[in-house]
Amino acid sequence: MYLYSNCKGGAQENGTDGWQDDRDNRHLSRLRSQPPSLELDTTMIFPDSKLYIDGVLRPATGDISFDNISPWTGETVGRAADATAEDMDAAIAAARRAFDETDWSTNRAIRRDLVHTFGLALKANRHRLAEIARHEVGAAPGAISSIQVDGPLGFLDPLFALFDKIEWETPMGDASGFGMTSRRLLVKEPAGVVGAITPWNVPLYITVGKVVPALLAGCTVVLKPAPDTPLMAAILGELAAEVGFPPGVLNVVTGSEPALLGEMLVTDPRVDLISFTGSTSVGRRIMEKAAPTLKRLFLELGGKSAGIVFADAPDFAQAVARSIVCFHAGQGCAMITRLLVERSRYDEAVTVLSAAYAGYATRWGDPDDLANVMGPVISSRQRDRVMGYIEQGIAEGARLIAGGKVRPGSGFFVEPTCFVDVSNAMTIAREEIFGPVLVVMPFDDEDDAVRIANDSQFGLSGSVRTGDPERAMRVARRLRTGSVGINGGMPIAVDLPFGGYKQSGIGKEWGIEGFEEYLETKSIALPA
Ligand code: NAD
Repeated sequence: MYLYSNCKGGAQENGTDGWQDDRDNRHLSRLRSQPPSLELDTTMIFPDSKLYIDGVLRPATGDISFDNISPWTGETVGRAADATAEDMDAAIAAARRAFDETDWSTNRAIRRDLVHTFGLALKANRHRLAEIARHEVGAAPGAISSIQVDGPLGFLDPLFALFDKIEWETPMGDASGFGMTSRRLLVKEPAGVVGAITPWNVPLYITVGKVVPALLAGCTVVLKPAPDTPLMAAILGELAAEVGFPPGVLNVVTGSEPALLGEMLVTDPRVDLISFTGSTSVGRRIMEKAAPTLKRLFLELGGKSAGIVFADAPDFAQAVARSIVCFHAGQGCAMITRLLVERSRYDEAVTVLSAAYAGYATRWGDPDDLANVMGPVISSRQRDRVMGYIEQGIAEGARLIAGGKVRPGSGFFVEPTCFVDVSNAMTIAREEIFGPVLVVMPFDDEDDAVRIANDSQFGLSGSVRTGDPERAMRVARRLRTGSVGINGGMPIAVDLPFGGYKQSGIGKEWGIEGFEEYLETKSIALPA
């Protein structure tokens, strides 16, 4: 699926068509005869986005705004309201008031109805969301039709179905203890005011995954998006205003400073819970800053997921070839970015990868090719960061077999890059690069593969490919990660809880567990 690396025109790792099927070959020859077009309409897509605070769409205090830059061209494609501390303070106050003083937290029928209407508004505005994903996020068409827009929109109805399964009250029967017999009841209640802090890589997907369950659970929300992608949040504020949520139930506060508004949410005692998706380093900082108020934290953090390919993997060559890290230019937290190949077929895998990367060299970067899944990285800062890792990989002695350069011209493009003969001690194997970079290394046997895969501060996802079903399950269970795909199986879905072990996070998004993040459990007892 989307988050897994796969550069075959929009298909997914567990897709049905093969790497070299007819469609691909036709597509490839078309691209070779016709170089990628970089012509993009750079009209401002959102010239003056607003904050949404206490039920009102309005500019930031002082009418300050900031440029929104297209990663495809480096040009300004929108302007977003640049909230001040005063604006964030108003948003937190509104969310607190809406939670404490309205029936939002207790009236499940009303909020289900309104959030459902909000979902319909999102679906009705699919074209605008797609335009923002394209221009602001730098999403290629194949990414828009999957995780960037159509994926999260497709998750909405199943989310409502999950919500309907929540057991709000569970009779626990009578029990004797401490000298008396009591009749007991477990009650689920909303957690309170949620500060939702989101990253730029898949903004609609992450925002739907936080805001919809939080609102359905009965929480009120202050959404603070990443400064690189404020418009995707701003449009949600605009649609929420149309839906007519009670004032303060949902607030959208965009800003240009990465930390200022987020730290206000983290430190403010009026906020009960922080739902954060982003880097592990910022996650750590949030933990420190939240300590004085002992705030509940739900953290979805970085990854450096390992894919283990045994010599007996079904369709060995295809499995290896499809490991190219290119989907959304490698900006996915759960992507397989460390490829571990059994030593007896390691050289063969390197040959396959060299050919696959050479074949892919002309197949990315076209904003108009519906099958293309790889565009630019989000910003010049991110491009330089990725290039810094590539230089470090070369300096530390890894062998570069593909890519390694910035694409000349406008926009923030890094070539699909592959390092082989990597040691797991190298920086490029230990740190999250968040760009189109795959590192490949050999392993000796099952124990060695598991040892290398688990030798990481991260534990977000992973995959295993082998023709031995027992070994597949054994290895999947031994990996210290929140999800594992076997032979192309997809462990990410709306009803599957997603989250990391170790420093990849605390808590789960999606599934019933994703709702539980926004709920408290209360035990009530009365004399039997
Ligand atoms: P980031 O950590 O730099 O920023 C994430 C958000 O935190 C942004 O809104 C940012 O403005 C805000 N922020 C920055 N400093 C803050 C502070 N001190 N206090 C509060 N908020 C602060 O991450 P990014 O660069 O936007 O996104 C990329 C990262 O997100 C990668 O590490 C990726 O793995 C991770 N990610 C994880 C998941 C997941 O589900 N585990 C999903 C997507 C992305």
